[in-house]
Amino acid sequence: MSNHLFDAMRASAKSGESIFIETIDGQRWTYADALRLSGQIASAIDVLGVRPGDRVAVQVDKSPLALMLYLACVRCGAIYLPLNTAYTLAELDYFIGDAEPRLVIVSSKSRADVERIAHGHGAIVETLDADGAGSLMELARDESADFLDAARAPDDLAAILYTSGTTGRSKGAMLTHDNLLSNALALRECWHVTAADRLIHALPIFHTHGLFVATNVTLVSGASMFLLPKFEPGEILPLMSRATLMMGVPTFYVRLLQHEGLNRETVANIRLFISGSAPLLAETHAAFKQRTGHAILERYGMTETNMNTSNPYDGERRAGTVGFPLPGVSMRVTDPATGETLGPGETGMIEIKGPNVFKGYWRMPEKTAAEFTKDGYFISGDLGKIDEAGYLHIVGRDKDLVISGGYNIYPKEVEGEIDRLDGVAESAVIGIAHPDFGEGVTAIVVLKPGATMDEKAVLNALSDRLARYKQPKRVIFAEDLPRNTMGKVQKNLLRDRFSNLYM
Ligand code: ATP
Ligand code: MG
Repeated sequence: MSNHLFDAMRASAKSGESIFIETIDGQRWTYADALRLSGQIASAIDVLGVRPGDRVAVQVDKSPLALMLYLACVRCGAIYLPLNTAYTLAELDYFIGDAEPRLVIVSSKSRADVERIAHGHGAIVETLDADGAGSLMELARDESADFLDAARAPDDLAAILYTSGTTGRSKGAMLTHDNLLSNALALRECWHVTAADRLIHALPIFHTHGLFVATNVTLVSGASMFLLPKFEPGEILPLMSRATLMMGVPTFYVRLLQHEGLNRETVANIRLFISGSAPLLAETHAAFKQRTGHAILERYGMTETNMNTSNPYDGERRAGTVGFPLPGVSMRVTDPATGETLGPGETGMIEIKGPNVFKGYWRMPEKTAAEFTKDGYFISGDLGKIDEAGYLHIVGRDKDLVISGGYNIYPKEVEGEIDRLDGVAESAVIGIAHPDFGEGVTAIVVLKPGATMDEKAVLNALSDRLARYKQPKRVIFAEDLPRNTMGKVQKNLLRDRFSNLYM
Protein backbone atom coordinates (compact mmCIF):
# COMPACT_ATOMS: atom_id res chain seq x y z
CA MET A 1 0.00 0.00 0.00
CA SER A 2 1.33 3.40 -0.77
CA ASN A 3 1.04 6.83 0.74
CA HIS A 4 1.47 9.12 -2.27
CA LEU A 5 3.11 12.12 -0.59
CA PHE A 6 5.00 10.48 2.22
CA ASP A 7 6.49 7.71 0.06
CA ALA A 8 8.17 10.40 -2.06
CA MET A 9 9.49 12.17 1.03
CA ARG A 10 10.76 8.92 2.49
CA ALA A 11 12.57 8.07 -0.73
CA SER A 12 14.40 11.38 -0.90
CA ALA A 13 16.43 11.03 2.28
CA LYS A 14 19.35 9.05 0.92
CA SER A 15 21.00 8.67 4.27
CA GLY A 16 19.09 8.72 7.53
CA GLU A 17 22.04 10.47 9.10
CA SER A 18 21.82 13.56 6.90
CA ILE A 19 20.49 16.69 8.60
CA PHE A 20 16.89 17.72 8.01
CA ILE A 21 16.60 20.59 10.51
CA GLU A 22 19.02 22.74 12.45
CA THR A 23 17.79 25.36 14.88
CA ILE A 24 19.41 28.65 15.86
CA ASP A 25 20.77 27.15 19.08
CA GLY A 26 22.56 24.44 17.11
CA GLN A 27 20.18 21.53 17.78
CA ARG A 28 19.93 19.09 14.89
CA TRP A 29 17.34 16.63 13.65
CA THR A 30 18.39 14.04 11.08
CA TYR A 31 16.12 12.41 8.53
CA ALA A 32 16.21 9.30 10.71
CA ASP A 33 14.94 11.41 13.63
CA ALA A 34 12.15 12.76 11.43
CA LEU A 35 11.10 9.26 10.46
CA ARG A 36 11.16 8.03 14.04
CA LEU A 37 9.38 11.03 15.58
CA SER A 38 6.72 11.31 12.89
CA GLY A 39 6.14 7.55 13.29
CA GLN A 40 5.69 7.86 17.05
CA ILE A 41 3.39 10.87 16.71
CA ALA A 42 1.39 9.09 14.01
CA SER A 43 0.97 6.12 16.36
CA ALA A 44 -0.20 8.42 19.16
CA ILE A 45 -2.68 10.17 16.89
CA ASP A 46 -3.99 6.81 15.75
CA VAL A 47 -4.47 5.73 19.37
CA LEU A 48 -6.43 8.95 19.95
CA GLY A 49 -8.89 7.70 17.36
CA VAL A 50 -7.93 9.78 14.32
CA ARG A 51 -8.80 7.90 11.11
CA PRO A 52 -7.86 8.60 7.48
CA GLY A 53 -9.90 11.57 6.28
CA ASP A 54 -10.31 13.06 9.76
CA ARG A 55 -9.12 16.60 10.24
CA VAL A 56 -6.38 17.49 12.71
CA ALA A 57 -6.35 21.22 13.45
CA VAL A 58 -3.06 22.63 14.65
CA GLN A 59 -2.33 26.02 16.18
CA VAL A 60 1.18 25.78 17.62
CA ASP A 61 4.38 27.81 17.58
CA LYS A 62 6.89 27.05 14.88
CA SER A 63 9.30 24.29 15.89
CA PRO A 64 10.90 21.13 14.47
CA LEU A 65 8.30 19.00 16.26
CA ALA A 66 5.50 21.00 14.67
CA LEU A 67 6.85 19.83 11.30
CA MET A 68 7.08 16.24 12.58
CA LEU A 69 3.42 16.57 13.51
CA TYR A 70 2.61 17.64 9.93
CA LEU A 71 4.44 14.55 8.64
CA ALA A 72 2.64 12.37 11.16
CA CYS A 73 -0.71 13.59 9.85
CA VAL A 74 0.32 12.81 6.27
CA ARG A 75 1.37 9.33 7.35
CA CYS A 76 -1.91 8.70 9.22
CA GLY A 77 -3.95 9.82 6.26
CA ALA A 78 -5.38 12.61 8.39
CA ILE A 79 -6.09 15.99 6.84
CA TYR A 80 -3.66 18.50 8.27
CA LEU A 81 -5.23 21.83 9.07
CA PRO A 82 -2.75 24.44 10.27
CA LEU A 83 -4.05 27.64 11.81
CA ASN A 84 -2.42 31.04 12.06
CA THR A 85 -0.93 31.48 15.53
CA ALA A 86 -2.38 35.00 15.63
CA TYR A 87 -5.99 33.78 15.49
CA THR A 88 -8.05 34.71 18.54
CA LEU A 89 -10.36 32.34 20.39
CA ALA A 90 -13.37 33.68 18.51
CA GLU A 91 -11.63 33.00 15.18
CA LEU A 92 -10.59 29.57 16.39
CA ASP A 93 -14.19 28.85 17.24
CA TYR A 94 -15.15 29.65 13.64
CA PHE A 95 -12.41 27.48 12.12
CA ILE A 96 -13.03 24.52 14.43
CA GLY A 97 -16.76 24.75 13.79
CA ASP A 98 -16.15 24.95 10.04
CA ALA A 99 -13.59 22.16 9.73
CA GLU A 100 -14.92 19.83 12.45
CA PRO A 101 -11.56 18.30 13.33
CA ARG A 102 -11.41 15.16 15.47
CA LEU A 103 -8.25 16.42 17.16
CA VAL A 104 -7.05 19.96 17.92
CA ILE A 105 -3.44 20.57 18.95
CA VAL A 106 -2.52 23.85 20.63
CA SER A 107 0.16 25.16 22.96
CA SER A 108 -0.18 24.29 26.66
CA LYS A 109 -1.04 27.85 27.65
CA SER A 110 -4.20 27.91 25.54
CA ARG A 111 -5.40 24.42 26.41
CA ALA A 112 -8.15 25.36 28.86
CA ASP A 113 -9.65 28.04 26.61
CA VAL A 114 -9.50 25.94 23.46
CA GLU A 115 -10.95 22.93 25.23
CA ARG A 116 -14.11 24.88 26.01
CA ILE A 117 -14.56 25.61 22.31
CA ALA A 118 -13.39 22.26 20.95
CA HIS A 119 -15.57 20.12 23.18
CA GLY A 120 -18.61 22.00 21.91
CA HIS A 121 -17.63 20.89 18.41
CA GLY A 122 -16.88 17.31 19.44
CA ALA A 123 -13.07 17.54 19.15
CA ILE A 124 -10.43 16.44 21.62
CA VAL A 125 -7.47 18.67 22.51
CA GLU A 126 -3.80 17.84 23.03
CA THR A 127 -0.85 20.18 23.42
CA LEU A 128 2.53 20.77 21.83
CA ASP A 129 4.93 23.56 22.83
CA ALA A 130 7.88 24.90 20.87
CA ASP A 131 10.31 23.19 23.27
CA GLY A 132 8.61 19.82 22.78
CA ALA A 133 6.68 19.88 26.07
CA GLY A 134 2.96 19.10 26.15
CA SER A 135 0.65 16.11 26.16
CA LEU A 136 1.19 15.06 22.53
CA MET A 137 4.84 14.12 22.96
CA GLU A 138 4.07 12.49 26.30
CA LEU A 139 1.71 10.19 24.46
CA ALA A 140 4.09 9.72 21.52
CA ARG A 141 7.15 8.89 23.63
CA ASP A 142 5.86 5.42 24.51
CA GLU A 143 4.62 4.61 21.03
CA SER A 144 6.37 2.56 18.42
CA ALA A 145 8.21 4.40 15.66
CA ASP A 146 7.25 1.64 13.20
CA PHE A 147 4.01 3.13 12.05
CA LEU A 148 2.34 1.51 9.08
CA ASP A 149 1.54 4.49 6.85
CA ALA A 150 -2.10 4.77 5.80
CA ALA A 151 -2.76 4.12 2.13
CA ARG A 152 -3.42 7.40 0.35
CA ALA A 153 -4.12 7.87 -3.33
CA PRO A 154 -2.95 10.92 -5.29
CA ASP A 155 -6.43 12.41 -5.13
CA ASP A 156 -6.94 12.01 -1.35
CA LEU A 157 -6.82 15.14 0.75
CA ALA A 158 -3.59 15.88 2.61
CA ALA A 159 -4.46 19.30 3.99
CA ILE A 160 -7.01 22.02 4.29
CA LEU A 161 -5.23 25.32 4.26
CA TYR A 162 -7.06 28.53 4.96
CA THR A 163 -6.26 31.47 2.68
CA SER A 164 -4.60 34.53 4.18
CA GLY A 165 -7.80 36.53 4.52
CA THR A 166 -6.37 39.52 2.66
CA THR A 167 -9.60 40.25 0.82
CA GLY A 168 -12.14 38.97 3.35
CA ARG A 169 -12.84 35.92 5.45
CA SER A 170 -10.33 33.08 4.96
CA LYS A 171 -11.52 30.12 2.89
CA GLY A 172 -10.43 26.52 3.45
CA ALA A 173 -8.64 25.19 0.37
CA MET A 174 -8.73 21.39 0.04
CA LEU A 175 -5.33 20.16 -1.16
CA THR A 176 -4.63 16.62 -2.27
CA HIS A 177 -1.50 14.51 -1.89
CA ASP A 178 -0.73 15.05 -5.55
CA ASN A 179 -1.37 18.81 -5.42
CA LEU A 180 1.42 19.03 -2.87
CA LEU A 181 3.75 16.43 -4.33
CA SER A 182 3.52 17.53 -7.97
CA ASN A 183 4.25 21.11 -6.96
CA ALA A 184 7.20 20.21 -4.73
CA LEU A 185 8.72 18.19 -7.58
CA ALA A 186 8.15 20.97 -10.12
CA LEU A 187 9.82 23.52 -7.84
CA ARG A 188 12.72 21.18 -7.08
CA GLU A 189 13.35 20.90 -10.80
CA CYS A 190 12.97 24.62 -11.53
CA TRP A 191 15.17 25.80 -8.71
CA HIS A 192 17.73 22.96 -9.00
CA VAL A 193 17.34 21.98 -5.35
CA THR A 194 19.49 19.03 -4.25
CA ALA A 195 20.49 17.25 -1.05
CA ALA A 196 23.44 19.63 -0.84
CA ASP A 197 21.15 22.63 -0.26
CA ARG A 198 20.67 24.32 3.10
CA LEU A 199 17.65 26.59 3.26
CA ILE A 200 17.09 29.55 5.55
CA HIS A 201 13.51 29.05 6.74
CA ALA A 202 12.18 32.07 8.61
CA LEU A 203 8.59 31.92 7.32
CA PRO A 204 5.52 30.89 9.31
CA ILE A 205 4.52 27.24 8.86
CA PHE A 206 0.75 27.75 8.77
CA HIS A 207 0.89 29.21 5.26
CA THR A 208 1.57 27.69 1.84
CA HIS A 209 4.92 29.46 1.51
CA GLY A 210 6.61 28.19 4.69
CA LEU A 211 4.77 24.87 4.91
CA PHE A 212 4.54 23.58 1.39
CA VAL A 213 7.02 25.53 -0.71
CA ALA A 214 9.82 25.64 1.84
CA THR A 215 9.25 22.40 3.75
CA ASN A 216 8.02 20.05 1.02
CA VAL A 217 10.72 21.15 -1.43
CA THR A 218 13.36 20.53 1.25
CA LEU A 219 11.87 17.11 2.01
CA VAL A 220 11.60 15.86 -1.56
CA SER A 221 15.17 16.99 -2.19
CA GLY A 222 16.67 15.43 0.94
CA ALA A 223 18.02 18.92 1.69
CA SER A 224 18.30 20.59 5.09
CA MET A 225 17.06 23.77 6.63
CA PHE A 226 17.80 26.27 9.32
CA LEU A 227 14.46 26.59 11.06
CA LEU A 228 14.06 30.00 12.67
CA PRO A 229 11.09 31.06 14.80
CA LYS A 230 10.84 34.38 12.96
CA PHE A 231 12.63 36.70 10.58
CA GLU A 232 15.39 38.63 12.32
CA PRO A 233 18.09 40.06 9.99
CA GLY A 234 20.68 40.05 12.79
CA GLU A 235 20.16 36.30 13.21
CA ILE A 236 19.94 35.46 9.55
CA LEU A 237 22.97 37.27 8.18
CA PRO A 238 25.48 35.20 10.21
CA LEU A 239 23.80 31.98 8.99
CA MET A 240 24.26 32.87 5.34
CA SER A 241 27.84 31.60 5.21
CA ARG A 242 26.47 28.10 5.93
CA ALA A 243 23.29 28.30 3.83
CA THR A 244 22.74 28.04 0.08
CA LEU A 245 19.11 29.11 -0.33
CA MET A 246 16.69 31.59 1.14
CA MET A 247 12.93 31.92 0.65
CA GLY A 248 11.19 35.05 1.82
CA VAL A 249 8.34 37.49 1.45
CA PRO A 250 9.27 40.89 -0.01
CA THR A 251 9.47 42.53 3.44
CA PHE A 252 12.34 40.16 4.32
CA TYR A 253 14.37 41.62 1.47
CA VAL A 254 13.42 45.19 2.34
CA ARG A 255 14.56 44.59 5.91
CA LEU A 256 17.80 42.89 4.88
CA LEU A 257 18.58 45.92 2.72
CA GLN A 258 18.12 48.16 5.76
CA HIS A 259 20.83 46.17 7.56
CA GLU A 260 24.40 47.32 7.03
CA GLY A 261 25.65 43.74 7.37
CA LEU A 262 24.22 42.80 3.95
CA ASN A 263 26.96 42.74 1.30
CA ARG A 264 28.62 40.51 -1.28
CA GLU A 265 30.78 38.76 1.30
CA THR A 266 27.90 37.83 3.63
CA VAL A 267 25.95 36.22 0.79
CA ALA A 268 28.93 34.59 -0.94
CA ASN A 269 27.74 31.06 -0.14
CA ILE A 270 24.10 31.56 -1.17
CA ARG A 271 23.16 30.30 -4.60
CA LEU A 272 19.55 31.50 -4.77
CA PHE A 273 17.25 34.04 -3.13
CA ILE A 274 13.52 33.47 -3.78
CA SER A 275 10.62 35.84 -3.14
CA GLY A 276 6.86 35.43 -3.21
CA SER A 277 3.46 35.83 -1.49
CA ALA A 278 3.24 39.53 -2.31
CA PRO A 279 4.67 41.77 -5.06
CA LEU A 280 8.40 42.47 -4.87
CA LEU A 281 9.00 46.06 -5.94
CA ALA A 282 11.32 46.40 -8.93
CA GLU A 283 13.34 48.88 -6.91
CA THR A 284 13.91 46.30 -4.13
CA HIS A 285 15.03 43.84 -6.79
CA ALA A 286 17.47 46.42 -8.21
CA ALA A 287 18.81 47.51 -4.82
CA PHE A 288 19.41 43.89 -3.79
CA LYS A 289 21.21 43.19 -7.04
CA GLN A 290 23.43 46.17 -6.56
CA ARG A 291 24.33 45.33 -2.95
CA THR A 292 24.79 41.57 -3.30
CA GLY A 293 25.10 40.75 -7.00
CA HIS A 294 22.03 38.47 -6.69
CA ALA A 295 18.93 38.79 -8.87
CA ILE A 296 16.12 37.70 -6.53
CA LEU A 297 14.00 35.04 -8.21
CA GLU A 298 10.31 35.98 -7.90
CA ARG A 299 7.57 33.38 -8.16
CA TYR A 300 3.77 33.46 -7.91
CA GLY A 301 1.30 31.22 -6.21
CA MET A 302 -1.67 31.07 -3.93
CA THR A 303 -3.14 28.80 -1.26
CA GLU A 304 -5.60 27.30 -3.75
CA THR A 305 -3.07 26.46 -6.47
CA ASN A 306 0.28 26.08 -4.76
CA MET A 307 2.90 27.71 -7.01
CA ASN A 308 1.98 28.63 -10.57
CA THR A 309 4.87 30.48 -12.13
CA SER A 310 8.51 31.22 -11.51
CA ASN A 311 11.21 33.34 -13.00
CA PRO A 312 13.87 31.18 -14.62
CA TYR A 313 16.84 29.79 -12.75
CA ASP A 314 19.11 30.09 -15.75
CA GLY A 315 17.51 32.74 -17.94
CA GLU A 316 16.82 36.39 -17.21
CA ARG A 317 14.97 37.06 -13.95
CA ARG A 318 12.83 40.03 -14.84
CA ALA A 319 12.07 42.45 -12.02
CA GLY A 320 8.36 43.21 -11.70
CA THR A 321 7.37 39.88 -13.28
CA VAL A 322 6.70 36.42 -11.86
CA GLY A 323 8.10 34.48 -14.80
CA PHE A 324 6.74 31.47 -16.66
CA PRO A 325 4.31 28.65 -15.77
CA LEU A 326 5.90 25.75 -13.88
CA PRO A 327 6.20 22.40 -15.66
CA GLY A 328 2.74 20.83 -15.95
CA VAL A 329 0.88 24.09 -15.20
CA SER A 330 -1.31 25.74 -17.87
CA MET A 331 -1.98 29.43 -17.59
CA ARG A 332 -3.96 31.91 -19.63
CA VAL A 333 -5.19 35.48 -19.33
CA THR A 334 -8.82 36.05 -20.22
CA ASP A 335 -11.26 38.88 -20.65
CA PRO A 336 -13.26 38.88 -17.39
CA ALA A 337 -16.42 39.94 -19.26
CA THR A 338 -16.39 37.34 -22.05
CA GLY A 339 -13.96 34.68 -20.85
CA GLU A 340 -12.07 34.91 -24.14
CA THR A 341 -8.32 34.31 -24.07
CA LEU A 342 -6.37 37.53 -24.52
CA GLY A 343 -3.18 38.11 -26.46
CA PRO A 344 0.27 39.24 -25.33
CA GLY A 345 0.30 42.53 -23.44
CA GLU A 346 -3.45 42.54 -22.79
CA THR A 347 -4.57 42.72 -19.17
CA GLY A 348 -7.18 40.31 -17.84
CA MET A 349 -7.95 37.51 -15.40
CA ILE A 350 -5.21 34.97 -14.69
CA GLU A 351 -6.57 31.42 -14.96
CA ILE A 352 -4.73 28.26 -13.93
CA LYS A 353 -5.09 24.55 -14.62
CA GLY A 354 -2.86 21.66 -13.62
CA PRO A 355 -2.03 19.04 -10.99
CA ASN A 356 -1.28 21.89 -8.57
CA VAL A 357 -4.87 23.19 -8.49
CA PHE A 358 -6.91 22.39 -5.37
CA LYS A 359 -10.03 20.28 -5.16
CA GLY A 360 -12.28 23.09 -4.02
CA TYR A 361 -13.19 25.16 -1.01
CA TRP A 362 -14.10 23.13 2.06
CA ARG A 363 -17.87 22.91 2.35
CA MET A 364 -18.43 25.67 -0.21
CA PRO A 365 -19.58 23.81 -3.34
CA GLU A 366 -21.23 26.85 -4.86
CA LYS A 367 -18.26 29.10 -4.40
CA THR A 368 -16.02 26.35 -5.76
CA ALA A 369 -18.19 25.95 -8.84
CA ALA A 370 -18.22 29.71 -9.40
CA GLU A 371 -14.41 29.92 -9.36
CA PHE A 372 -13.84 27.38 -12.14
CA THR A 373 -14.44 27.82 -15.86
CA LYS A 374 -16.35 25.23 -17.88
CA ASP A 375 -13.09 23.81 -19.21
CA GLY A 376 -11.61 23.38 -15.74
CA TYR A 377 -9.44 26.46 -15.22
CA PHE A 378 -9.33 28.05 -11.77
CA ILE A 379 -10.21 31.73 -11.89
CA SER A 380 -7.47 33.14 -9.69
CA GLY A 381 -8.92 36.56 -8.91
CA ASP A 382 -5.57 38.09 -9.90
CA LEU A 383 -5.28 40.33 -12.94
CA GLY A 384 -2.23 40.19 -15.12
CA LYS A 385 -0.71 40.20 -18.58
CA ILE A 386 1.76 38.02 -20.40
CA ASP A 387 4.45 39.93 -22.26
CA GLU A 388 5.93 39.10 -25.68
CA ALA A 389 8.65 37.00 -24.07
CA GLY A 390 6.10 35.00 -22.06
CA TYR A 391 6.73 36.50 -18.62
CA LEU A 392 3.64 37.00 -16.46
CA HIS A 393 3.14 40.44 -14.92
CA ILE A 394 0.68 40.62 -12.02
CA VAL A 395 -1.29 43.82 -12.19
CA GLY A 396 -3.29 43.36 -8.99
CA ARG A 397 -6.37 41.66 -7.64
CA ASP A 398 -9.68 42.06 -9.42
CA LYS A 399 -11.21 43.08 -6.08
CA ASP A 400 -8.74 45.97 -5.89
CA LEU A 401 -9.41 47.27 -9.39
CA VAL A 402 -10.74 50.83 -9.23
CA ILE A 403 -13.48 51.86 -11.63
CA SER A 404 -13.78 55.62 -11.74
CA GLY A 405 -15.91 57.52 -14.24
CA GLY A 406 -16.23 54.33 -16.26
CA TYR A 407 -12.46 53.82 -16.58
CA ASN A 408 -10.47 50.90 -15.17
CA ILE A 409 -7.57 52.01 -13.02
CA TYR A 410 -4.97 49.48 -11.92
CA PRO A 411 -3.74 50.57 -8.48
CA LYS A 412 -0.27 49.16 -9.05
CA GLU A 413 0.43 51.62 -11.85
CA VAL A 414 -0.55 54.60 -9.70
CA GLU A 415 1.32 53.22 -6.68
CA GLY A 416 4.41 52.81 -8.85
CA GLU A 417 4.37 56.51 -9.78
CA ILE A 418 3.80 57.61 -6.18
CA ASP A 419 6.53 55.34 -4.84
CA ARG A 420 9.02 56.94 -7.22
CA LEU A 421 8.58 60.33 -5.56
CA ASP A 422 11.36 61.50 -3.25
CA GLY A 423 10.33 61.14 0.35
CA VAL A 424 7.71 58.41 -0.23
CA ALA A 425 8.30 55.09 1.53
CA GLU A 426 5.26 53.26 0.16
CA SER A 427 1.67 53.73 -0.91
CA ALA A 428 -1.64 51.97 -1.42
CA VAL A 429 -4.18 53.10 -4.00
CA ILE A 430 -7.81 52.16 -3.42
CA GLY A 431 -11.24 53.00 -4.80
CA ILE A 432 -13.73 54.69 -2.47
CA ALA A 433 -17.38 55.30 -3.23
CA HIS A 434 -17.77 58.70 -4.88
CA PRO A 435 -21.05 60.43 -5.75
CA ASP A 436 -19.91 61.60 -9.22
CA PHE A 437 -17.35 59.01 -10.33
CA GLY A 438 -18.68 55.79 -8.84
CA GLU A 439 -15.33 55.31 -7.17
CA GLY A 440 -12.71 57.94 -6.39
CA VAL A 441 -9.04 57.01 -6.84
CA THR A 442 -7.57 57.48 -3.37
CA ALA A 443 -3.92 57.23 -2.35
CA ILE A 444 -2.74 56.33 1.14
CA VAL A 445 0.89 57.41 1.40
CA VAL A 446 3.56 56.58 3.97
CA LEU A 447 6.46 59.02 3.99
CA LYS A 448 10.08 58.20 4.76
CA PRO A 449 11.24 59.36 8.20
CA GLY A 450 11.87 63.12 8.14
CA ALA A 451 10.21 63.69 4.75
CA THR A 452 7.71 66.53 4.55
CA MET A 453 5.30 66.37 1.66
CA ASP A 454 1.73 67.46 1.50
CA GLU A 455 -1.23 66.40 -0.58
CA LYS A 456 -0.72 69.16 -3.12
CA ALA A 457 2.92 68.24 -3.69
CA VAL A 458 1.99 64.64 -4.44
CA LEU A 459 -0.84 65.63 -6.78
CA ASN A 460 1.35 68.15 -8.60
CA ALA A 461 4.12 65.63 -9.07
CA LEU A 462 1.66 63.13 -10.57
CA SER A 463 -0.10 65.58 -12.86
CA ASP A 464 2.18 65.03 -15.84
CA ARG A 465 2.90 61.38 -15.16
CA LEU A 466 -0.56 59.89 -15.18
CA ALA A 467 -3.63 60.40 -17.33
CA ARG A 468 -6.11 62.62 -15.53
CA TYR A 469 -8.59 59.82 -14.74
CA LYS A 470 -5.84 57.83 -12.99
CA GLN A 471 -4.78 60.69 -10.75
CA PRO A 472 -5.89 60.39 -7.12
CA LYS A 473 -8.79 62.57 -6.04
CA ARG A 474 -7.35 62.62 -2.54
CA VAL A 475 -4.04 61.77 -0.92
CA ILE A 476 -4.07 60.70 2.72
CA PHE A 477 -0.93 60.32 4.79
CA ALA A 478 -0.55 57.42 7.22
CA GLU A 479 2.11 56.14 9.60
CA ASP A 480 2.02 52.71 8.00
CA LEU A 481 -0.16 50.40 5.88
CA PRO A 482 -2.22 47.64 7.53
CA ARG A 483 -0.60 44.27 6.78
CA ASN A 484 -1.42 40.69 7.68
CA THR A 485 1.16 38.21 8.94
CA MET A 486 2.36 37.45 5.41
CA GLY A 487 3.15 41.13 4.88
CA LYS A 488 0.22 41.68 2.51
CA VAL A 489 -1.44 45.08 2.48
CA GLN A 490 -5.06 44.73 3.62
CA LYS A 491 -6.82 47.12 1.28
CA ASN A 492 -10.25 46.07 2.54
CA LEU A 493 -9.37 47.62 5.92
CA LEU A 494 -8.30 50.84 4.21
CA ARG A 495 -11.50 50.92 2.14
CA ASP A 496 -13.55 50.51 5.34
CA ARG A 497 -11.60 53.15 7.22
CA PHE A 498 -12.07 55.81 4.54
CA SER A 499 -15.46 54.72 3.22
CA ASN A 500 -17.07 58.12 3.89
CA LEU A 501 -14.31 60.23 2.41
CA TYR A 502 -16.35 61.53 -0.52
CA MET A 503 -19.82 61.38 1.02
P1 ATP B 1 -7.62 35.73 0.60
O1 ATP B 1 -7.75 34.84 -0.58
O2 ATP B 1 -8.13 35.10 1.84
O3 ATP B 1 -8.15 37.11 0.41
P2 ATP B 1 -4.79 35.86 -0.08
O4 ATP B 1 -5.24 35.79 -1.50
O5 ATP B 1 -3.80 36.93 0.27
O6 ATP B 1 -6.04 35.96 0.91
P3 ATP B 1 -2.93 33.68 -0.22
O7 ATP B 1 -3.44 32.47 -0.88
O8 ATP B 1 -1.98 33.55 0.90
O9 ATP B 1 -4.17 34.47 0.35
O10 ATP B 1 -2.24 34.62 -1.27
C1 ATP B 1 -2.33 34.45 -2.65
C2 ATP B 1 -2.27 35.79 -3.33
O11 ATP B 1 -1.05 36.46 -3.05
C3 ATP B 1 -2.31 35.69 -4.84
O12 ATP B 1 -3.63 35.50 -5.31
C4 ATP B 1 -1.70 37.02 -5.25
O13 ATP B 1 -2.68 38.05 -5.21
C5 ATP B 1 -0.68 37.27 -4.15
N1 ATP B 1 0.69 36.92 -4.58
C6 ATP B 1 1.39 35.79 -4.35
N2 ATP B 1 2.62 35.85 -4.90
C7 ATP B 1 2.70 37.05 -5.51
C8 ATP B 1 3.71 37.73 -6.25
N3 ATP B 1 4.91 37.19 -6.47
N4 ATP B 1 3.42 38.96 -6.72
C9 ATP B 1 2.21 39.53 -6.49
N5 ATP B 1 1.23 38.96 -5.80
C10 ATP B 1 1.47 37.73 -5.30
MG1 MG C 1 -6.78 34.70 -2.35
